[in-house]
Amino acid sequence: MHTITLINGDGIGPEISESVQKIIAASGLEINWDIQTAGADVIESEGVPLPDRVLESIKRNKVALKAPVTTPIGKGFRSVNVQLRKALDLYANLRPCKNLPGVETRFKDVDIVVVRENTEDLYAGVEEKIDEDTAHSIKIITRKASERICKFAFEYAIKNNRHEVCAVSKANIMKLSDGLFLESFRNVAKDYPQITSKEILVDNLCMQLVQDPTRFDVLVLPNLYGDIVSDLTAGLIGGLGVAQGANIGLDCAVFEPVHGSAPDIKGQNKANPTALLLSAIEMLKYINEYTYAEKIEKALFKTLSQGHKTADIGGNLTTTEFTNKIIENLL
Ligand code: ATP
Repeated sequence: MHTITLINGDGIGPEISESVQKIIAASGLEINWDIQTAGADVIESEGVPLPDRVLESIKRNKVALKAPVTTPIGKGFRSVNVQLRKALDLYANLRPCKNLPGVETRFKDVDIVVVRENTEDLYAGVEEKIDEDTAHSIKIITRKASERICKFAFEYAIKNNRHEVCAVSKANIMKLSDGLFLESFRNVAKDYPQITSKEILVDNLCMQLVQDPTRFDVLVLPNLYGDIVSDLTAGLIGGLGVAQGANIGLDCAVFEPVHGSAPDIKGQNKANPTALLLSAIEMLKYINEYTYAEKIEKALFKTLSQGHKTADIGGNLTTTEFTNKIIENLL
């Protein structure tokens, strides 16, 4: 039996986590969930939002499913998400964005995978105040991190039957930093002649994504562009309630939805569990449980095609009703 770390999170986290646990159990796959609390709720008892026991659990089990966790603002704590990524060296942020049956969107046949570098760029947090009126933020790009994220993108493409990897940059302006990213991409691409490699400037990419997103396959981007573009692609397929994600390193992987803890709808049985469920499906594939992953995916797609949806994507079901419909479709 697999033992997997489960972070239930806060806000809508516990509701969508319960839904996903029920669906996986109903599929017949037994998982021993190593439940770990984190975030605002544990600060009072343990002093920090991300206690060491959570990191130890993920290091031990190698895989985690994580519902959204809120980091209290203005209390001096670093973001739980950023800390997790740093401590476990989860260098690749993976966001597959594919149209879901039954979810109305502007474009059909969107099937893009965004691979975002997770450890450096402007997110390294190297900032300085020069004087009252001037601040500097330093963009760090290294060959090591660039090559490993590009390699990840090509390996993902091969493993998942993709045909093209496109590097995104602004190397025409940031000739040294984005130039190094692009040079690393070209070096790595040489080892993957079976995959088409392309390059695009980030501004042109954004325009083309909103004109015709079906032109794109796998995108690989430095951290900041990846953050922005992956929200754009999430919007193309129906928004936050259906956008899945994963943070992957050499030793561990944390699967989590793109959305936050949505405190505005907390405890109202309204939250859409789809993004966490899709993240869990990707997690099952990662641990080679393809049969169960496909079984659950089929049931989810069938449920959505039947018009059963939560309010955020135009339906009227509660979280519980939607969950039960998926379970009915598993059987
Ligand atoms: P964070 O800063 O923590 O990432 P955020 O500002 O991106 O959070 P979210 O918590 O993701 O915000 O919520 C943004 C909006 O999307 C809210 O109105 C919320 O209710 C809605 N939303 C987010 N996730 C879901 C979901 N799973 N189901 C339904 N609505 C959701």
